[in-house]
Amino acid sequence: MNLIWLRTDLRLYDNPALYFACQNGKSRVVFCETPEQWQEHHEAPVKLGFRSQLLTDIQHRLHELGIPFEVIQAERFEQLPEVLLKYCKKHKVSGLWFNREIPHDEQVRDQQVATLLQENSIKCHPCDNEFIVPPEQLRTQQGGIYKVFTPWYRSWMTQVSQLPATLLPEPETQAAPITVHSDPVELSNSTAHRNDLWPGTEAAALECLQKFCHERLHTYAEKRDLPGINGTSTLSPYLASGVVSPRYCLWLIQQTYADHSNDWREDPWLRELAWREFYRYLMLNFPALSRDQPFKSETRFLLWESNSENVQAWQQGQTGFPIIDAAMRQLHQTGWMHNRLRMLTASFFTKLLLEDWHLGESYFMEQLIDGDFASNNGGWQWSASTGCDASPWFRVFSPIRQSEKFDPDGAFIRKFVPELDTLDANAIHNPPAKIRDNLGYPHPIIDYKEARERVLTRFENLKVMTPQKGIRH
Ligand code: FAD
Repeated sequence: MNLIWLRTDLRLYDNPALYFACQNGKSRVVFCETPEQWQEHHEAPVKLGFRSQLLTDIQHRLHELGIPFEVIQAERFEQLPEVLLKYCKKHKVSGLWFNREIPHDEQVRDQQVATLLQENSIKCHPCDNEFIVPPEQLRTQQGGIYKVFTPWYRSWMTQVSQLPATLLPEPETQAAPITVHSDPVELSNSTAHRNDLWPGTEAAALECLQKFCHERLHTYAEKRDLPGINGTSTLSPYLASGVVSPRYCLWLIQQTYADHSNDWREDPWLRELAWREFYRYLMLNFPALSRDQPFKSETRFLLWESNSENVQAWQQGQTGFPIIDAAMRQLHQTGWMHNRLRMLTASFFTKLLLEDWHLGESYFMEQLIDGDFASNNGGWQWSASTGCDASPWFRVFSPIRQSEKFDPDGAFIRKFVPELDTLDANAIHNPPAKIRDNLGYPHPIIDYKEARERVLTRFENLKVMTPQKGIRH
């Protein structure tokens, strides 16, 4: 008997561990719930609610194929070697199959499980599904690790161009359908997610991807920065839970371009998928990133403010900067935020409020339905200028100028800050004081110019304190 251990790969299509185990012989599937560990990792209740639905869908579909599925319980990763061993013994399992995960705790967990199982003559079969291009294949000419996106991307694209365009099918029927009644999966600490926006099934994920590629891929470049319109794929919750594989996205891009004279290699959406992969590549190669360390080690000495009132105003969408408040309220109402706004709100937090990026990073994880350790960490470190190939430290977004540029008629602000709905496009980005008072909307919690000067001085001082030490991990 083979055992497949599902984690952040909640799909039947193009799932190497699931497919190869089932090809290899009779199989059963488990998912391990570890609520205490997830809480420590700041997993959002809304993401757990979404995951519960995805698991219910998987359970139903595996049972139709005659493949048993169970959710097994532990509190923390450390308990999993014993829990899985017990399960394997009970079901006479001879091989465990799983797709590799890259953050440090997950790697330690897998190593400990593999060691104990192998001591008990149960073979482990780690497979790869996280990357389009295996990270070991991407080295600089000197054999080192890339630290800058553009040369990494060039090398990545060369490899992508040579990949065979094949995907794995879903596993074949193993036995008669399993008809015993199974309750819907309900993971601990989960809350309902926006099912109207992200139905929790693999079919919905594939439909979302196909619809985007057919209808919006060709306008992505011009619309991707405008939060007021539906210009991006909104696929991130599905990608973060592994409901679609990045290889499937690549394959569909290639299919979409098949009838065009344009080259799929130049597709701007593929470049964004590459950013996702780049952050994973970094996390794998610089384990310190999984342990709260900034990529630029000298930025450890940055002096952060610790102003709980400002942090609270930011969290609650009450900063008095309409675009920032609209973004934070979108996060609360949907569990998701547009990329341009993630950059803006993170820059506001780390540069203008000068609050420690770790606080923002964990707050996002606690709210996001698409919370993804590598992308979130990469995004926060990019915004705080502590990261690899990050935004330069002297770039400090002006929330008002950005608002005028990317939400010119205020459509996005109106949707999430309804108290400003009556204002015209000139006033909505920075309402006059009197109007704020009348509408019950807060005054700005900081003065942009002063806050900008403060952060520039802070980074200047850091340069004096720690003259170019380089990056050490
Ligand atoms: P699209 O524009 O349609 O892009 C397609 C896919 O490419 C996305 O679903 C995502 O998987 C990937 N992608 C796009 N942009 C990026 C990027 N800049 N970095 C990494 N991957 C990218 N993304 C997450 O999936 N989870 C997170 O927890 C997360 N936290 C972030 C925090 C900050 C501070 C910042 C600046 C960015 C963060 N991102 C995160 C990246 C990005 O904002 C989201 O992936 C994107 O907004 C998702 O919307 P979409 O699916 O419509 O993206």
